[in-house]
Amino acid sequence: MKILVAAKIDEEGIKKLKERYDVELDFYPEESELIEKIKDFDGLVVRSKPKVTREVIEAGKKLKVIGRAGVGLDNIDLEAAKERGIKVVNSPLASSESVAELVFALILALARKIIKADSALRNKKWIKKELLGVELYGKTMGIIGYGRIGAHVAKIAGGFGMKCIAYDVIKNEELAKKYGVVYKSLEEVLRESDIITLHVPLIPQTKHMIGEKEFKMMKNTAILVNAARGGVVDEKALYNALKNNEIYGACLDVFETEPPFESPLLELDNIVVTQHLGANTREAQRKAGIMIAEEIMKVL
Ligand code: NAD
Repeated sequence: MKILVAAKIDEEGIKKLKERYDVELDFYPEESELIEKIKDFDGLVVRSKPKVTREVIEAGKKLKVIGRAGVGLDNIDLEAAKERGIKVVNSPLASSESVAELVFALILALARKIIKADSALRNKKWIKKELLGVELYGKTMGIIGYGRIGAHVAKIAGGFGMKCIAYDVIKNEELAKKYGVVYKSLEEVLRESDIITLHVPLIPQTKHMIGEKEFKMMKNTAILVNAARGGVVDEKALYNALKNNEIYGACLDVFETEPPFESPLLELDNIVVTQHLGANTREAQRKAGIMIAEEIMKVL
């Protein structure tokens, strides 16, 4: 059987696949190229790119499995895959710890003005008075989407002496109890939290779930963290909320358009930004590569 690896996954994963299958590596092909090529393959491996559109899926006459090394499946047309009986697998457990750790890296960078301190000092400026920060201890962390990553965030937040509340459409009381989390309504989480962190998938129900109305409910000292998907937050509303100091600031790892070179958000001072780095650690990448190879083997 033939597997097309269309995104750069860890060598260990590729090695595992090569033990069983005829593997071709062609990272990030254009859609037209992928449509042309896919007809010969039984399996396809991607990450958040390339996009696996209906056209790609329909051209994959032999295709039996699509493996997404990572979590979000929003780049794959799941409806089209289902119609053709193609299994879609991912490696959701690989990156939870890495994403949760990045959330705290971003929060601390914003709360303690680390980026500003670093760049001022490099420019030989000692501006301690402008760098007054805020503590995490005793603050309320609001977790929207209390799944794998959300739960790991709660675990770390406990170490900082934070109180955790969460909103989720599915309640897992056992998991909540484990990390001392209390479920609340979305409105309560938005109103009561000092830090609001998003860990829902991007699906039609979560698109722009944080918009103008939701920003109005937040404390004006609140920090919003988005390491989920850009589309979960209405970026225009976020820009206005930040510009008008309706909230304290935002930590953003993901954007509606990536890279967000044209985004007006990048002109603002009260944000800390990274480049979709949540799962970008050696450990998470290695785990994702190995797990996706194993998932593909299970299907084939
Ligand atoms: P998960 O499935 O374990 O958790 C998601 C939670 O969101 C679930 O508990 C689910 O019930 C809840 N949910 C779904 N729809 C909801 C809604 N409308 N309102 C409230 N809650 C809702 O997923 P996870 O492993 O924790 O990952 C979460 C998301 O993080 C992924 O879907 C992905 O988009 C994103 N992610 C980002 C990076 C990154 O690099 N920044 C890396 C990995 C994952």
